[in-house]
Amino acid sequence: MLNLIIRGAALTLMCLVATTGFAQETKRSITKVAGDVYRFQNNFHFSLVTVTDAGVVVVDPINKEASTWLKDNLSSISDKPVTHLIYSHSHLDHASGGAVYADAGARVIAHGNAPEAIDGVAIDERFDDTRNMQIGGKTFELTWLGEGHGKDLITVVVRPENVAFITDAASPKRLPFRNMGRSNIDGWINQIKKIETLDFDIFAPAHGRIGVKSDAADARIYMEKLRERVLAGLKAGKSVDELATSVQMEEYKDWQQYGGWRELNVRGMARFLKDSGQAG
Ligand SMILES: [Zn+2]
Repeated sequence: MLNLIIRGAALTLMCLVATTGFAQETKRSITKVAGDVYRFQNNFHFSLVTVTDAGVVVVDPINKEASTWLKDNLSSISDKPVTHLIYSHSHLDHASGGAVYADAGARVIAHGNAPEAIDGVAIDERFDDTRNMQIGGKTFELTWLGEGHGKDLITVVVRPENVAFITDAASPKRLPFRNMGRSNIDGWINQIKKIETLDFDIFAPAHGRIGVKSDAADARIYMEKLRERVLAGLKAGKSVDELATSVQMEEYKDWQQYGGWRELNVRGMARFLKDSGQAG
């Protein structure tokens, strides 16, 4: 019995050490993008934070711990509270923890296809295709990207800084995430084309490094080349395992996550082409 208690205590201690270790490794910072526009980093996720004369506008809460940290550290860039919370989409790795701002009075905006509540936060304002908001001397242009990566994905362009905050659809010189989930990848490519029609200079992604507008076209061309090569292979009777080796996408070997995600991208694309009946 005593032995069991001691082992239990040891296990608890190990969990505490593990939890503390993780907490210490969480990488958080607020860095300027341009003018009054900042990115808040929480490990591998970024939010967009804009200081206006009327208050602070946050795009994506990420999660409760991240939101709490940002709220507690906001005084480093503004003496005003978060007055508006915009959701880029409802995927919970970006959209959890919004109550930290909403409960403190922030107005909540999301696309019309977003669920009634996101992680318990009710949406105050919804829109269909586009919505322009004037807040404290800044303009926020919200554009729905159509269906592809999710059904409620939007891009937010902030003026006069001309910064576009782009979540999940594309990142500058970085491969798409793993096997691209169960997304409609043709819709996803169209989402990037929609981004290419927008007017902006700085590409601030929710994952990865800052870039410029032309990075969106480059991300779309990567997807199209991947699609073309995987489709040609499947039509030639090659197995997915064979394609995972032969479709190397070598011209992208300098992009972020090339080593980790290229093979998963090939497998995800093959899954989509087969499931959508395009592989012949
Ligand atoms: Zn997502």
